[in-house]
Order: sequence, then C-alpha cells, then structure tokens
Amino acid sequence: MTRDDWSTRRQAAAFAAVRRAVLATQAARALIDRAASETIAKDDASPVTIADFASQAIVVRMLAHLLGAAPILGEESDTALRDEAHRAILDAVVAAADAAEEGIDAEEILEALATPKADPRNGPCWALDPVDGTKGFLRGGQYAIALAWIAGENGRGTPAESVIASPALDPTAADPATPSSPGVIAVAAPRSGARIASLAGGESAALVAHDWKRGDPIRLALSFERAHGDADSAVTLARRIGETFEPFRLDSCSKYLLVANGRADAYLRIPRDATRAECVWDHAAGVRIAMESGCTVCDLRGEPLDFGRGPTLSANVGIVVAPPRLAEALVAAARA
Ligand code: AMP
Ligand code: MG
Repeated sequence: MTRDDWSTRRQAAAFAAVRRAVLATQAARALIDRAASETIAKDDASPVTIADFASQAIVVRMLAHLLGAAPILGEESDTALRDEAHRAILDAVVAAADAAEEGIDAEEILEALATPKADPRNGPCWALDPVDGTKGFLRGGQYAIALAWIAGENGRGTPAESVIASPALDPTAADPATPSSPGVIAVAAPRSGARIASLAGGESAALVAHDWKRGDPIRLALSFERAHGDADSAVTLARRIGETFEPFRLDSCSKYLLVANGRADAYLRIPRDATRAECVWDHAAGVRIAMESGCTVCDLRGEPLDFGRGPTLSANVGIVVAPPRLAEALVAAARA
C-alpha cells in the first residue's frame, strides 16, 4: 500500500470510530441526566464521566477492528473502573457503550481501556480525547471527541489524520457556544484540506479560515473555564492589534472548528500556571484541522508545537491559532 492509501484508510477508520463514539457519549448524556452526574475524581480534579470511558473503549475497539492493533495515547485507563466501589459506574459505561456497539460487555470495555498508553516519543501513535471538555459536557455545554494520528515531521511530532466531533456545536449559529443539535464532525489530513459535515449526515463543506488583514476586528475563541487560561491577557493582546468583538467562550477543542471555519479569528491559550504543559490529546486533532483550513498554529513565542515530547507539549508555552497575519501579530504582541 502507498503512503496515500494508508492515510485514506486511517482517515476513514478515525472518522468511523469517532462517529460511533458520539453515540456512546449521547447515551451517557441521557443516563447522566437521569441519574444526576456520578463522577470519579481524578488526580487533576477534573470530573470523569461514564461518557469518557465508553467513548474511549468504542474508539479503541473500532480502530483495532478496522486497522489492526496500533499504539494509542488515550486520556483514560481501566484502573478506576476495576474498583468494586465503582460497579454502578461500570454498569452505566456498558449501557452507554451498547448504544455504539450492541452487545458489548464489561470485560471487553475493561480490556479496551487497559490498552497500554502509547508515548509519542516511541514512534507514531493515535492520540485520543474521548470527551474533551468534560466540565462542559456535565454542564450541558460544548464538548468534543478528538482523535489524531501523531506522526513525525521535521524532527517533531506532528498531528496527521485528524477527526473532531462536536455533538453540541452549530458553527453557523449567531452564538455558536450555545448547545445545539445535531452537531458537527470535522476531518483533516496533511495537505488535503479540512472538511466539516453535520452529524446528521449530508454533504461536507471545506473549512476555510478568515483571510484576516490588519484593520479587521478580532473575535477570539477562549475557554469557558476561567481556570484553564488567562482570558484577560488574551483580550489585552488582541486589543494591542486592533478592535475586538466579545470573545466566544466555549469548552473543548470545538474552539479550533470556529477558527477553522472563520467564525472566530483566533484561539489563544495563555497558561495561568506556567508549570502546567498542555496535553497532546487536547490539541492534536484541532491543530491539524486548523492548519488545513489555512491557520498558523504555534506557541506564544512563535515556536511550532511539538507533539513528539511525550503526553504533553512540554517544549511549548501556550497556544496561538489564527490566520497567518494575525498569528504573526499576536506572537509579536506577546513577545513585546
Ligand atoms: P478547554 O475547554 O478548552 O479549557 O479545554 C478542556 C481541557 O482543559 C481539558 O481537557 C483539560 O485537559 C484542560 N485543563 C484542565 N485544567 C487546566 C488548566 N488548569 N489549565 C489549562 N488547561 C486545563
Ligand atoms: Mg480534554
């Protein structure tokens, strides 16, 4: 098989896996709404829901089924679910996963979640965020399922075939942060462009970022969670360049889709805590989709992101996603 054939196969498998995982997250949503949210506290205190486990198990199994076993760096693992005290959660995970893969059982889910975590330092691998924006998901806000193949390029780890599903996003709505059904799914691969389609099906459309020029007003996309980034500094930076609109504030890597389709001009992530590096699975797919829509993606110093350093972007500080002229201006403003 040629390189292009592999890329096409990977893209098709990633699309199918994420499309399926959406069904599991939606079933989990219904269960959570009924049972009030049952969560397991993780070390970083972010809530993990049955949706994360069900989604990851479905993606791992679909990829293995369609492509054979491949290394995968997923956010979740089986450890917490194997605890007898969490039996009710495991039962709920099975129920949610069943909506995506009928007849799946607890053992199959635990086995899928027990797949050892890949490390991009050891070679190409998938990076998966089974539910990005868990806090948004629990709030009934925006969330996403993100999957990217991390390959090597120019001595750095770089996202290649990538998929993001945003089941509550309507990028064309007046306020795209407001949850909406049926949601969208976006795909991209290196030098192939990025496309978006409704999760209800139908034709896909090219994702094209705004051709931003100096003098154009700037609409930022920022995290909803104030603790996840320094929003005030982001707005201050943008104001040094030009007039700004009220930012879109929304959870998850859905922000990448708003910049990729020109609804927002830039997504900025300015760390509040300089010792916390960004996670590979939170950004890999979004970065490829934004790049293919015509954006520049770099860190606050203008350095390219390196996805090959392990589970985090430890060589980078912050993230800038914007059309080239705006990215350049933002980096210059950040340096100043
Ligand atoms: P967002 O909705 O864009 O803020 O992205 C959600 C992601 O933020 C989660 O998947 C977490 O990995 C990440 N996150 C959690 N805590 C922090 C933090 N203190 N600073 C930056 N990102 C964080
Ligand atoms: Mg995440």
